[in-house]
Amino acid sequence: MPDWLGLAAAAFCCLLAHHFSGAVCGSLLPQGPRASVERPDDVHELVRLMWRNRAGKSASEVWMARMVAAGCMASDHLWQDLGLWSRKDLTALMRRNFPGLATRNVRDMKWKRFLYKQLCEAEGIYICRAPSCEVCTYYPVCFGPED
Ligand code: SF4
Repeated sequence: MPDWLGLAAAAFCCLLAHHFSGAVCGSLLPQGPRASVERPDDVHELVRLMWRNRAGKSASEVWMARMVAAGCMASDHLWQDLGLWSRKDLTALMRRNFPGLATRNVRDMKWKRFLYKQLCEAEGIYICRAPSCEVCTYYPVCFGPED
């Protein structure tokens, strides 16, 4: 994950205060210049997708959207990039924060692939070549276990 979990410093401190009352933000902030965000256009689109589908119950959803989008820029499974224990934990996070998306991922598609597929379909881009997932040779890539 990038510095401050992909959040601005002020947002990172708000996140800490929200979830870990009593945590002292200053001592956790990295020193020195901050690395630039990778693929900022992708991050922006992913954040917008999650905001459109957020639960609307907590300010934390806004920070979670940025963190999940930052994790999508890394190269492992999304739950690993976010430092979670399993895809199940990530699914729980998505259900809690972005239920509009979670309810659409009915077949437990890998989350990175699912999020990018949503962006493609919103733009009218259909990258799947098979008529259905059941007959697609990429099935294990989209739906397989992530151990
Ligand atoms: S399994 Fe094949 S058809 Fe289904 S989402 Fe993946 S690439 Fe598309």
